[in-house]
Formats: sequence, C-alpha cells, structure tokens
Amino acid sequence: MSKFLSPRLAGVTPYTPGEQPQDQKYIKLNTNESPYPPSPAVVEAVNKAEVEKLRLYSDPACADLLKTAAKHFGLKPNQIMPGNGSDENLFFAIRAFCDEQHPLAYADITYGCYGVWCGLMNIPSDIIPLKEDFTLDPADYYNKNETIVIANPNAPTGLALPRSAIEGILKANPDNVVIIDEAYVDFGGESCVPLIDKYDNLLVVQTFSKSRQLAGARLGLAMGNENLIADLNRVKFSLNPYNVNRLTLKAGQAALEDTAYFDKTRSAIIETRQWTKKELEKRGFICTDSRSNFLFAESDKKDGGELYRKLKEKGVLVRHFDAPRISNRLRITIGTPEEMQALLAALDAILEE
Ligand SMILES: *Cc1c(COP(=O)(O)O)cnc(C)c1O
Repeated sequence: MSKFLSPRLAGVTPYTPGEQPQDQKYIKLNTNESPYPPSPAVVEAVNKAEVEKLRLYSDPACADLLKTAAKHFGLKPNQIMPGNGSDENLFFAIRAFCDEQHPLAYADITYGCYGVWCGLMNIPSDIIPLKEDFTLDPADYYNKNETIVIANPNAPTGLALPRSAIEGILKANPDNVVIIDEAYVDFGGESCVPLIDKYDNLLVVQTFSKSRQLAGARLGLAMGNENLIADLNRVKFSLNPYNVNRLTLKAGQAALEDTAYFDKTRSAIIETRQWTKKELEKRGFICTDSRSNFLFAESDKKDGGELYRKLKEKGVLVRHFDAPRISNRLRITIGTPEEMQALLAALDAILEE
C-alpha cells in the first residue's frame, strides 16, 4: 500500500479469486469454468479478419449482439445490456441503485463480490442469514426498502429458489430494484427472464462464463425493464463506453446462436453432477441439492480445509472458503467424467490414510 492511497480504499478487502495456476498441472475444479471448449462456431467467429479489425474501437451500442440476445431471450434490445462479465454489470447495477443512504441486502453466504463492491463504493450492506440448512426464506426479503441481490441458484451452496418465490419478493418490494444473479441458472434453475415485462423492478444478470464456455472472454448480459437498462447505460457511458471488446462481441453472438452445443454441454454437466453426487454420498459426503455446475460437499470423516490441501497435493484444485458456517465444505466444480473419476480416486486415497 502506498502512502498515496485514499484512506477510504485502505479499509476495503478485495475479493480473492480462485487460484488460476498457469502451468496446467492441476485438474481444475475450483472456479466453476466449463470443462468443455467454446462452440466450434465461436472459434470460427473469432477469425483473422476480426483480429485485423482490432485497430477499430468496438461498437459501444453492441447492436449485433443485442439483436441476437433479444431474439434468444424474447426481449427487446433496449431491455438488455452486455457487460465485461456479469461482474461488471452487477457493479454497474449496485452503482446505479445503491448509495450511502440506500443499502444493498444480500445473504450471509453468497457470492463474495457483493460485499466487496459495497465496501468500494461506501454502500451499507444488509446481510441476511440463510437458514441453518442454507435455504433462503423469501419472507426475509419482504418490504425491505433496500436494493436486493440474490444469486439464484446461489453460490457456493448451489441451492435454487423457484420463480414463484422470487415473484413474491418482487411484489413485496415495488419501490426497490431486485437483482437476480443467474450465473448458474442453465444447470437446473428457473430463470426470471419471463417476469421482466411484468415487474419494472426486476434486473436479471446472466454470464457467458459458466454455461457458455467463455469465462476468459468476459461477457455478461443484464436484462430488465428498459428504464433500468437505461440507468445501467448511464453508468457504462460514464466509465467505459467500449467495455466489451470486438472479439468478445463476436464470440458471444456465435455462442448464443449455437443452441445445440449449449444444450449438449449443459446436459453433460448436469448428468456428471448427478453421478458425482451419488459417488460422493457413497463415501459419506453430504451434498446440497445443487442446481449449478458445482457440488457443495462436506465429509463426515475429514475437515474441509484438510481435504482441500490434500487434494491440491494430489493435483486436484477445489475451492475451500475459510468462512463461518461453511469452513467444513468444499465447492467442487463439475468437470468431465474423467476429471471427476480422478477427483474420487484422490479422495479415496486421502480417506484411507
Ligand atoms: C461467476 C459468477 C459471477 C461472475 O461472472 P463473470 O461473468 O465471469 O464476471 C457472478 N455471480 C456469480 C454468482 C458467479 O458465480
């Protein structure tokens, strides 16, 4: 820290991302990426001609991608805003809809960035504990008079709320924005996109990082009432009008259009998840009913931190959060069937020790 840093920032604890080792030595089950490559259509879209166009700025309106996305989700282009990953869209939304007097409400166990962004922007957090079994009681979010963000399915628990439960929260907060972070919705959640025309306080945020194999391209979509989207654009055009680069715009469009590849890969992950869950349960693990591309598992024999370290020694990276209520759990990304077999073999060796 330099002596020049603003004292306000000195108190901010940045988010710690999952490890990204650059040596490819690990079976990487720690950051919920897809184990499959992007669609062949993406590889074709990001071609030499597009690379040569990098001398030009990208389209700040993202018009071509918006047209494709609008058709895909049954919305109008002015109901969608692309961002540099859903992280950027979530940040824009919190910047737009919260301030010192308008707190952000979110669960005690959820995506860590919500709290980090509140710290960065001096926004008060209203942290609402999940129940003992990690489920979220929608009634805890009624009449909050605060902006709300809910990851659905939630991370790292993997648990999902039905659309009807979110609808109850939307109805009970007509004067506040309710942000639904649908990073994992394609693996078994119920999307709230169909509610967008009905509720002017709903903002849905999706990402291409988890179910569309584009984590490294950085692309997300915020979707909601056109006035909410205009507010997000106000923030974007006050910060970085060219926030989505040319190659990513092309890649995202191609990924959205290849619905067959999308369905094939997400079904494979759901199937592998169910198989892995059964195998873990045979070994005495307790898993939540995950609707995501990861399992949230706890051993009845060994501590979570120890399992994380021993798996790493054996070349398997999983995520362990040294945080209250969940320090005995592992968040295990679903990889290929072969990767999950390697995980189980490593666990068997560790449990036998
Ligand atoms: C991965 C993740 C994000 C961030 O996604 P990007 O589009 O890669 O920025 C946001 N929210 C949740 C809950 C996530 O798991």
